[in-house]
Amino acid sequence: MEKLIDGKLISKALIEEISRETKEFVAKGGKKPHLAAILVGNDGASETYVNSKIKMCLEVGFDSSVIRCTSTITEEQLLKKIEKLNTNPDIDGFIVQLPLPRHVSELKVIEAINPQKDVDGFHPANIGRMALNLPSYLPATPFGIYQMLEKSGIETEGKNCVVIGRSHIVGSPISILLARNSNPGNCTVTLCHSKTQNLKEICSRADILIAALGKPEFITKEYIKKGAIVIDVGIHRVQDSSSPKGYLIKGDVKFDEVEPLVSKISPVPGGVGPMTIVALLKNTLLAAQKKVYAY
Ligand code: NAD
Repeated sequence: MEKLIDGKLISKALIEEISRETKEFVAKGGKKPHLAAILVGNDGASETYVNSKIKMCLEVGFDSSVIRCTSTITEEQLLKKIEKLNTNPDIDGFIVQLPLPRHVSELKVIEAINPQKDVDGFHPANIGRMALNLPSYLPATPFGIYQMLEKSGIETEGKNCVVIGRSHIVGSPISILLARNSNPGNCTVTLCHSKTQNLKEICSRADILIAALGKPEFITKEYIKKGAIVIDVGIHRVQDSSSPKGYLIKGDVKFDEVEPLVSKISPVPGGVGPMTIVALLKNTLLAAQKKVYAY
């Protein structure tokens, strides 16, 4: 049995699937999906993320637009731009790339987005629908993990799943998803965080361990039950003078030490990372097909 959960391979297959489905949808007279991204300021990382999202849109046959704003934009002006996208029938879904300048409230911005176009899945309406097991746009990273489990044929029903980290974008939503009555899902989930006591002991009982605590190589062999499935969400640049770039990309899991004990593990890089962009594309296609809020 293949031990490595290859996020690159799974995401490639999913991208081809989205591309094919888009072609079929358009051929039958459907609207070509259109994703817009609002980019505020000129933060290098945000610019890179938006560019790669736009590039992927092209690859699967979507239209895309970037709305650039200076970092001095007021909250009110930004909310007006959101309202324009909310009411523009040509835009099926849009995202506001985070983080935003300190003078703009992220919560206000997220709440201003029409939930039916909220393809990042951050709006409380979508989080609520997710919790109620209703159709919703799932946030990218949890959706990526979910699809990773599904496509790897991992049986989750009845399993003890431990999630480390309770952020709104990763830990909390994946814990909700895996506890739902669905497949993947039906796990007995324990959500751990910075105030959790006996973390090692809790983790060492996990059939499925999802590490999203944001601490490089924190999870060592003492945290692992033999034969467990480990999903490593962390991404860190760790200085390494012997590598050509001067750094290595590491996860939250000490891979070399943990890998011999597990039945399956997602690597970093090449695990959860490549899956997240697929989630945004999938949500945009669902938005164009009007499949989520279909009532
Ligand atoms: P965050 O900092 O918002 O949340 C970390 C969570 O871990 C918090 O809830 C905190 O309570 C918990 N935590 C911290 N230290 C802990 C400890 N010692 N014991 C138990 N719990 C502890 O982080 P985030 O945004 O959820 O991201 C987590 C990691 O995942 C980061 O490394 C981030 O870079 C990475 N990430 C990867 C992707 C991807 O696409 N692969 C996407 C998002 C985030």
